[in-house]
Amino acid sequence: MIYRRVLLKLTGELLGTPGQLGIDFLRVQRVANYLKHLKNNYEIELAIVVGGGNLFRGINLSDPNFDRAQADTIGMLGTIMNGLALQGKLKAIGVPSRVMSSLHTDQACEPYIRLKAIQHLDRGIITILAGGSGIPFFTTDTTAARMAAELDCDVLLKGSNVKGVYDSDPKKNPNATMFQELGYQEALIKGLMVMDDTAFAICKRMQIPIIVFDVDDLENIERILRGEKVGTLVK
Ligand code: UDP
Repeated sequence: MIYRRVLLKLTGELLGTPGQLGIDFLRVQRVANYLKHLKNNYEIELAIVVGGGNLFRGINLSDPNFDRAQADTIGMLGTIMNGLALQGKLKAIGVPSRVMSSLHTDQACEPYIRLKAIQHLDRGIITILAGGSGIPFFTTDTTAARMAAELDCDVLLKGSNVKGVYDSDPKKNPNATMFQELGYQEALIKGLMVMDDTAFAICKRMQIPIIVFDVDDLENIERILRGEKVGTLVK
């Protein structure tokens, strides 16, 4: 096992029906079942940052008169709903997990306290980090980078809807080429979007390796844990 403490960033889109808004509990179940399989078969400590793209993204609100900070708060609340959905499904299949939120919602879940999160991880409890970073104008990618640094994770696994980092958009250019491995500096020079700028800067500064991979195929996660080359490794 090359990684022991893993930060897994799951986009909210994985928990919703593609093309629709809302939580798809069958898709949440699929993720929960897979996480159970991972915990049963691999000695990893798992911190998960959940996104909210299946529910609401502040940046997508087209009304120019609507306060962006307020819109982002709605987005953050969405990530908490996703976190609770995932925890509920994990609980139903006997997998211990906690939801910790960086946005104050203490009646719904635990507040995010770094040392407590580390304690959960040390005990092998899947720790779901919701509420983003609790501040507007950020994304859950930034939160993932921040949490990977704060919780001393060995790697940040960024689940994506494409197979890795390409030299151009693979959804527009059929000849786009995927990188297997990239240096942080190389990614910057080539102007490649690995994660958003803030997230990328944190990983670069803290030397946290990032693996961008297609998360729709959940088994990619264990391929990565076994050391197979999957997606793009940025280090
Ligand atoms: N968000 C925020 N601050 C954060 C994290 C998230 O304001 O620290 C809001 C933002 O509006 C974002 C939404 O929550 O669009 C959902 O997160 P994200 O878009 O990152 O979800 P994903 O794309 O991973 O599903």
